[in-house]
Amino acid sequence: MKSRSLLALMVIQFICTGGALAQNDAAKAEAFVAQAEKELAAHSLLASRMEWVNRTYITEDTDALAAEFGARGTQLSVRLAKGAAKFDNTPSLSFDVRRKLDFLKRAIVLPAPERPGAAEELNVIATRLESTYGKGKGTLDGKPISGSDIEEAMGQVRDPEKLKEMWKSWHDNVGSPMRDDYTRLVAIANEGAKDLGFPDVGTLWRSAYDMPPDDFAREMDRLWLQVKPLYEQLHCYVRAKLSEHYGAKVQSATGPIRADLLGNMWAQEWGNIYQLVAPQGVGDLGYDLTALLAAKNYDPLKMVKTGEGFYTSLGLPSLPPTFWERSLFTKPRDREVVCHASAWDLDNKDDLRIKMCIKVNAEDFVVIHHELGHNYYQRAYNQQPFLYLNGAHDGFHEAIGDFIALSTTPDYLVQIGLLDASKVPSADKDIGLLLRQAMDKVAFLPFGLLVDKWRWDVLSGATKPADYQKHWTDLRLRYQGVIPPVERPATAFDPGAKYHIPGSVPYARYFLARILQFQFYKAAAEQSGWKGPLHRCSFYGNKEVGERLNKMMAMGSSKPWPDALEAFTGSRKMDGSAMIAYFQPLMTWLEQQNKGRQCGW
Ligand SMILES: [Zn+2]
Repeated sequence: MKSRSLLALMVIQFICTGGALAQNDAAKAEAFVAQAEKELAAHSLLASRMEWVNRTYITEDTDALAAEFGARGTQLSVRLAKGAAKFDNTPSLSFDVRRKLDFLKRAIVLPAPERPGAAEELNVIATRLESTYGKGKGTLDGKPISGSDIEEAMGQVRDPEKLKEMWKSWHDNVGSPMRDDYTRLVAIANEGAKDLGFPDVGTLWRSAYDMPPDDFAREMDRLWLQVKPLYEQLHCYVRAKLSEHYGAKVQSATGPIRADLLGNMWAQEWGNIYQLVAPQGVGDLGYDLTALLAAKNYDPLKMVKTGEGFYTSLGLPSLPPTFWERSLFTKPRDREVVCHASAWDLDNKDDLRIKMCIKVNAEDFVVIHHELGHNYYQRAYNQQPFLYLNGAHDGFHEAIGDFIALSTTPDYLVQIGLLDASKVPSADKDIGLLLRQAMDKVAFLPFGLLVDKWRWDVLSGATKPADYQKHWTDLRLRYQGVIPPVERPATAFDPGAKYHIPGSVPYARYFLARILQFQFYKAAAEQSGWKGPLHRCSFYGNKEVGERLNKMMAMGSSKPWPDALEAFTGSRKMDGSAMIAYFQPLMTWLEQQNKGRQCGW
């Protein structure tokens, strides 16, 4: 089967280069796309089954099989991308054929050039970068400490000397050795992008947003400027609290914040130090969801059923029986699994699953609502052709789950019988709740923006290898207002100490998802006629919200994303003002707290 379809594809490509009539070429493009969708669908079903078995039963054998299927998937995507690029100048293609060819061309994050040996070299370098990161260790008290442990320790340790040691050792040991490999990776992948008709890899990535690549970069800046005042107030407040706690010698009351003091290796989310900055009396949230779940005898299954209940309350269908039979809800006692929560759609129709080692606590309660958002999105677009089985753009998928998770408000907990109506926290507790949220969601914004700003500059050649480190430190200062705890030499490579750089995972999507989830949430609040403070709204049980949400989700990636956004929110523009509206009470409070302080850096 496989070899026959491969042959058919080669014949099509061969004829294409022959330069036939335009109409003929259009028909060939259409046939090429149809064949590609067939092959991809067949590969995807097998590969996802293989991957599922691997992630839920890790052995030497399933690792090897998953790697083999991964490699076959890459080969297939490369072949299809190159095939698609041959139709670049074919006139009179239909909207769908053109769109699908573009999707095929952009399916590979790091395209290899055609010259012999290049794909192999790129693959060796990419794998080496990933494993350098995976095996990377820092030190704590002079002893080696692994990646996941050091991440946790950065959230818990409060001794500034130890934080500095962990930060420096991680960036030195993990980032610095990657410098030359990364330089080479950029050069090869850019060659590959040129083969596909893009000036560089960054442009290829930015062209995935239904607008000219430069316009997209400006769009990111526009969204950032909308939310920047909120970040500046949060930065100002947290800096003052850290300075009070650690003393001015460790953290000055003015200027940038020391990056290792924020409870996270990359200073990207600050929730871990919430207790350090929470104001007295305002800091507690008024109820303890983990305790409520225990008191009501929730188990993992009941947690998932409750999450499903949110979606069915909106009028969306129940999850299929196979979801309950095939998902992994708890950590098996007798085998290794990947516990990191994920949502799956194996057959691109109804074989939906989640994989998660659920603990009965508040965090996992929210994560379940998030993961099921992916499943409901996948199911809503399952009538679309293969190349449209995706979010409207790559920020949408994460935003759906997060937006539903935002709605797990105290009122919602009352409606599902977890919280007694008399125990709904009074408005004076809102500041604590909002500050806790902002420490993660608002603090993330400048980091979410700058990772790809750095990478776009590196990929376009605007930043030369000699300036890789400096440009990273500059952007961190400019956007986040943070500085390294120690002077960084020009030979360092701090960006490599963040997984998504060696892993070559584009990052703009995470920034967009943060913005979009609040925009979705505000739209849902308006549709449900909510009149109170935005952050208190739960649209649980609102069928109109469900109907409009489903309309957006069912489009998959078949239309430019503004069409999808409009179907749900009525707006064709991404908009950071919803996030500002959500955090308005906190903004007012922060401005009061910051009176007399010199904000900014
Ligand atoms: Zn997710």
